[in-house]
Amino acid sequence: MSTKENPVEVAIIGSGPAGYTAGIYAARAQLKPLLFEGAVTAGGALMNTTEVENFPGFETGIMGPQLMQQMRGQAERFGTQFVTDDVVQADLNQPIKYLKDDRGNEYWAKSVILAMGSGYRELGIPGEKELSGHGVSWCATCDGFFFREQVIAVVGGGDSAVEEATFLTRFASKVYLIHRRDSLRASKIMVARAEADPKLEFVWNTEVTQAVAKDGKLNQIKTKNTVTGEAGVMDVTGLFIAIGHDPRNELVKGQIELDSEGYVLVKPGSTATNLPGVFACGDLVDHTYRQAITAAGSGCAAALDAERWLSHN
Ligand code: NAP
Repeated sequence: MSTKENPVEVAIIGSGPAGYTAGIYAARAQLKPLLFEGAVTAGGALMNTTEVENFPGFETGIMGPQLMQQMRGQAERFGTQFVTDDVVQADLNQPIKYLKDDRGNEYWAKSVILAMGSGYRELGIPGEKELSGHGVSWCATCDGFFFREQVIAVVGGGDSAVEEATFLTRFASKVYLIHRRDSLRASKIMVARAEADPKLEFVWNTEVTQAVAKDGKLNQIKTKNTVTGEAGVMDVTGLFIAIGHDPRNELVKGQIELDSEGYVLVKPGSTATNLPGVFACGDLVDHTYRQAITAAGSGCAAALDAERWLSHN
């Protein structure tokens, strides 16, 4: 346990590819990092995926949770210490930074690496929140199994939506992929796979406007054509929302510089934030690439930046 008089060299908040990679590098630099991995969802977004085909070094792919477990083990091997809890309070604008976890434990650190990633975006439509867990879901790999032989819909036009829709055809009898425009932004290989899937049907230029329940469970969605304005109804018992993510900045909002979309701002070519000794990496910073490998790369950079900063200060 750290004290104000005896702070840790570096605390890392977040346990996705960025956080774990920062842990590996900081630990190998003998900084004895303390990594807050979260109370419930250690491992970040890849814990909710199936096979990761594009992380270099795994010729035949690797399952997302296994990749994260291996990254964690690698960080641990070099001496990263883990706190399996969420940081609920951070005071970063002082020479020795203060952190408090959800159990009320207090920590002090000379430097902090922020790697909190991003959270699922919501549609903001009536019925969405109320039916979460009762037909509405943000995680196909977690909940897909419950929709065996059912007709369901996925909303979104990016890699996540196409990946989830393709995955869900394993269980569902039919999957509608509903997108607000008439072209996808997902990668070509995923689109080709989706187009070849006989259980998957694209619904273009369409927004979901309401999730409707019967007996407490989703049984219908209301839609609107984004070109003609025409209203429609679809009978589905599952609605998977995959419309992107927003940076998880709640912990640092108000004390650190963010851009207009809420991403933590870092100095160009670096992971340094506007606060001395505070670095940021991964999806918390990146609204362009947002890949596991780019997050891991920026976690590495954050650990190297923290190490250099500590040696100069
Ligand atoms: P994304 O690329 O930002 O796509 C979000 C999609 O949701 C877009 O098609 C967007 O429509 C739509 N959308 C946004 N807000 C909406 C709203 N309010 N109502 C209806 N539709 C809405 O997000 P993502 O698919 O989660 O991917 C995020 C990043 O992770 C990307 O960089 C992606 O490449 C990466 N990723 C990679 C893999 C992989 O390589 N295996 C898998 C998953 C994700 P518009 O197109 O009209 O903007």
